[in-house]
Amino acid sequence: MSRRPLAQINTSALLHNVERIRDMAPHSKILAVLKANAYGHGLLAVAAQLKDVHAFGVARIDEALMLRAGGIVKPIVLLEGFFHADELSQIVASNLQVVVHHPAQVEALVKAELESPIHVWLKIDSGMHRLGVEPADFKEIYQKLCQSKNVLQPMRLMTHFACADEKDNPATARQLALFRQTIGDAAGELSIANSAGVVGWPQSHGDWVRPGLALYGVSPMDKGRSAAHALRPVMTFSSSVIAVRQVRQGDAVGYGASWVAPKDTRLAVVAIGYGDGYPRNAPCGTPVLINGKRYPIVGRVSMDMTTVDIGDDEIAHGAQVILWGEDLPVEEIAEQVQTIPYELLCNITSRVQFRYIGD
Ligand SMILES: *Cc1c(COP(=O)(O)O)cnc(C)c1O
Repeated sequence: MSRRPLAQINTSALLHNVERIRDMAPHSKILAVLKANAYGHGLLAVAAQLKDVHAFGVARIDEALMLRAGGIVKPIVLLEGFFHADELSQIVASNLQVVVHHPAQVEALVKAELESPIHVWLKIDSGMHRLGVEPADFKEIYQKLCQSKNVLQPMRLMTHFACADEKDNPATARQLALFRQTIGDAAGELSIANSAGVVGWPQSHGDWVRPGLALYGVSPMDKGRSAAHALRPVMTFSSSVIAVRQVRQGDAVGYGASWVAPKDTRLAVVAIGYGDGYPRNAPCGTPVLINGKRYPIVGRVSMDMTTVDIGDDEIAHGAQVILWGEDLPVEEIAEQVQTIPYELLCNITSRVQFRYIGD
């Protein structure tokens, strides 16, 4: 067995989640979001599994080019479009699709001399105020793009939710209404829903859903758990015990001597740390799973090691320690460390070994 930290990727769970998304949004095509190394799960390996989705979404052109270089031929959408007009020839050559979200992109696109027209997803800012054209400018921009020889018709029309993870937040219904009012009867397929839209806002599904997190079997809802949506966690992040030792009441453990044993106990030292992407700010008490039982971490997480209080239990040298996975939701660990599961998944480092297997 590997003694290195391991991210085991359950390909059966990944395919299950695609089916679940299809069940939840039966009339929508799926644009699977693979940015940030497929949320830490491995860009190409995940893409190769997802044969039954309609398209992939990434944030940056280099992610798209990695997919093409890896033999992926499905449609790929650059979710932030091009950053500079000089990327357009590469976009045409690699058959990429672009989100257009800013008047400057519109100008650059209509002015460019392209070998062939490209697919455009025109993004409208319905209230997130990050990317997207102003509702008031929509008609003019839409017309301009309709008349451009560089744009395949009809375009697709999209927006993005800011608060869809909060079930009771009225902002989502407001965004949806403003989006629909803005586009009026403009032609084009619609795309609105991220994972939280898929799970929590059926009225937002439209022609294309854009799930990221849900694909990986993690709940996109605030305080949510994947089991509530019948999603299966894809990643099990684990390492192993490299030492077991006795400490006495009053012994301080780890950097800064921040934890002092309140009574005699035993510690397991685990080969996992922030150098692997385990969060350094995980507080004492954050659970890990050893032989199916939860134990609390104690002391500070260091670069390569973390200490766990195992009390009087017998734990073997080399025992597997699960940091998150099927029986220890990454959502729960994220709550412990006051972040979101997205960040924990993305932060896994190249030092971690990956293994892809089905059930
Ligand atoms: C990242 C992203 C998504 C996916 O979001 P999830 O919350 O992971 O489902 C969808 N749409 C756009 C535009 C994105 O940038």
